[in-house]
Amino acid sequence: MPAIQRRRSYRVKVGDKFIGGNEPILVQSMTNTPTEDVTATAQQVKELWESGSEIVRITVNTREAAAAVPKIVTELEKSDVNVPLVGDFHFNGHLLLTEYPDCAKLLAKYRINPGNVGRGERHDPNFSRMVEAALKWNKPVRIGVNWGSLDQDLLARMMDENAKLAEPLDAHAVLIEAIVQSGVESAHLAESYGMPRDGIVLSAKVSNVQDVIEVYRRLASRCEYALHLGLTEAGMGDKGIVASTAALSTLLMDGIGDTIRVSITPKVGDNRTREVEICQHILQSLDLRSFTAQVTACPGCGRTTSTVFQELASDIQEHLVKQRAIWKETYPGAEELKVAVMGCIVNGPGESKHANLGISLPGTFEEPKAPVYVDGKLLTTLKGDRIVEEFQVIVDEYVQKRYGAGGAGRHESLGTSVEAPLFAVLN
Ligand code: SF4
Repeated sequence: MPAIQRRRSYRVKVGDKFIGGNEPILVQSMTNTPTEDVTATAQQVKELWESGSEIVRITVNTREAAAAVPKIVTELEKSDVNVPLVGDFHFNGHLLLTEYPDCAKLLAKYRINPGNVGRGERHDPNFSRMVEAALKWNKPVRIGVNWGSLDQDLLARMMDENAKLAEPLDAHAVLIEAIVQSGVESAHLAESYGMPRDGIVLSAKVSNVQDVIEVYRRLASRCEYALHLGLTEAGMGDKGIVASTAALSTLLMDGIGDTIRVSITPKVGDNRTREVEICQHILQSLDLRSFTAQVTACPGCGRTTSTVFQELASDIQEHLVKQRAIWKETYPGAEELKVAVMGCIVNGPGESKHANLGISLPGTFEEPKAPVYVDGKLLTTLKGDRIVEEFQVIVDEYVQKRYGAGGAGRHESLGTSVEAPLFAVLN
């Protein structure tokens, strides 16, 4: 499988992380708690970080929110949570970053929305004050355009220019180009105030999949700033997940994107960490990053005798997720493990051979036995009513042997040397 060729981009330091260059594509998220509620915000940042968010953004919209930032940082330090915090500023960022130096100092990056820094004569001075704060505290900025708050002066100017053309574009085409130009021109403006190119991350979010793809392709062709990808206001549930995945995957396959966020609306009571999990699934599905050992399971069909294989797939997936934190420390590389759980022998053995470990459960009219493959070779055939438990033992032992200290490593087959210990466990 050919590797995705990443677009060239500047490498931007954000706290102890890097966005762009040859760095891994980072997963980020945003809190939805009132920032002035220190306890709730620190708790949610912690949850997002624990679920794998590598950068967390918090809104800084009021003086109380700016004053809360140092307290949130203190709370996070008490809990040993080490994640760069990004401040999301609109309308009054130039004031807050000046009036609250501790806030400016402790945030790892400032998000500036060029459509929300003030209109007319106020735009450039307000924008420059935010950039000055970033330079003073040695912080990068994200120039974050959003079509819901697009710079109206820029749009009006472009609409006027378009109207004078012999063959004017339609209004939507002008809007898309205005979004792109707002991002690129704002980044150039930041540079004119002294911000280095490796201090700028760029985003330009819209809520339509085809539009966001077009916008980012244009950005990628016109600049080498690190790009933050996201489909804004993606929506709720399956719709939000599918739309975000369609947009982000298409761009990532083009090599575009240095950090991603999925902006789904959680149902009331749902965990905010879902957006982090979706980002991880997108990156892992494209073989761009590995976060958790994966289960490949068939959908089941009329050949499936019972729900046993669904339960096994679910149990194995849960087991792998639970083990993630432990394995991360003890068995580096185990996040690349692939386990196949298949419902019958039609595709079971074939799929199992493509995974590190695979099990093929008996389908209707098949003998009640489950062949298990390890590194493409038939290891054993499980029988009876303890198939699930026995298979989990095989998985755990495989991880210990392959990824533990002195293990075979993730790129080599374990071959037959591991078969005896595995059989020993089973016996
Ligand atoms: S592997 Fe078997 S049970 Fe699963 S979908 Fe295919 S035919 Fe159906």
